Amino acid sequence: MFLKDTYTKILTDLGTCKLIAVSKTKPIPDLKEAYEAGCLDFGENKVQEMVEKQAQMPENIRWHLIGHLQSNKVKYIASFVHLIHSVDSLKLLQEINKQAFKNNRVIPCLLQIYIAQEETKFGLDFMEAKTLLESQELKNLKNIKIIGFMGMASFTENTDQIRQEFAKLKTFYDECKSTYKQENIDIQELSMGMSGDYMIAAQEGSTMVRVGSLLFGSRN
Ligand SMILES: *Cc1c(COP(=O)(O)O)cnc(C)c1O
Repeated sequence: MFLKDTYTKILTDLGTCKLIAVSKTKPIPDLKEAYEAGCLDFGENKVQEMVEKQAQMPENIRWHLIGHLQSNKVKYIASFVHLIHSVDSLKLLQEINKQAFKNNRVIPCLLQIYIAQEETKFGLDFMEAKTLLESQELKNLKNIKIIGFMGMASFTENTDQIRQEFAKLKTFYDECKSTYKQENIDIQELSMGMSGDYMIAAQEGSTMVRVGSLLFGSRN
C-alpha cells in the first residue's frame, strides 16, 4: 500500500525540507507506486533488503541507509548508496572510505547522534561526535564526506520533550556547521523526524525527514 494523498500532503507540509520514503519491509509494488508518484528518495534499514530492492527499481533512485550498518556489509552498498545516515564510529567510516575508494567515489555520511531519553545501543553523544570531527584519522579519509547529522527523538507522547530534543540537535548542528570545515566535512543536512513527529522536526530545522508507516501503512 502507498498512500499518494498522504505523500502529497506531507510534501506540502514540509516546504523545502526533503522527504525520504522509508520503505523497509514493504514489497516492490509499493515502492513502484511511490516512484510513480514522484518519490526518488527511499530509506532502508537493512543492507540485504536495500541491495535486493535497488536491483529491481529504476536507476535514478537515491538510496538512503538509515539503520545500523555493520562494517562487513559496507561493500554491498558502496557502489550505489546515496547517503548513509547511521555512522557511529571511526572504524565504520574507515571501512566506508575503503569501499568508496574501490568504487572510485566519495560516499556522503551523516553521524548518528543520540538525543533520546531511552537507552539505545547506537549513536554518538555530542562530545563523541566532536571528538570524531576533530580527529586526525578522519582527515586522511578522502573518499567519505560528513555532511551532517541524524537523530531520533524519544518514543513518547510528550511533544514538548520531542521538540526540545530536536532543538538541541539543531543547535549542535548550527555550531558544527560554523566550526568544522575541511575537505571531507561540509555540514549541511540534518536528518530528523519520522511519521509521528515529522512536523515538529521540520519546524525545528530538519532538512530531511524519514517517513515510513504514514506513507506505506504500519509494518508487522
Ligand atoms: C523505520 C525508521 C523510520 C521510519 O519510521 P516510521 O515511524 O514508520 O515513519 C525512520 N528512521 C529510522 C532510522 C527508522 O529505522
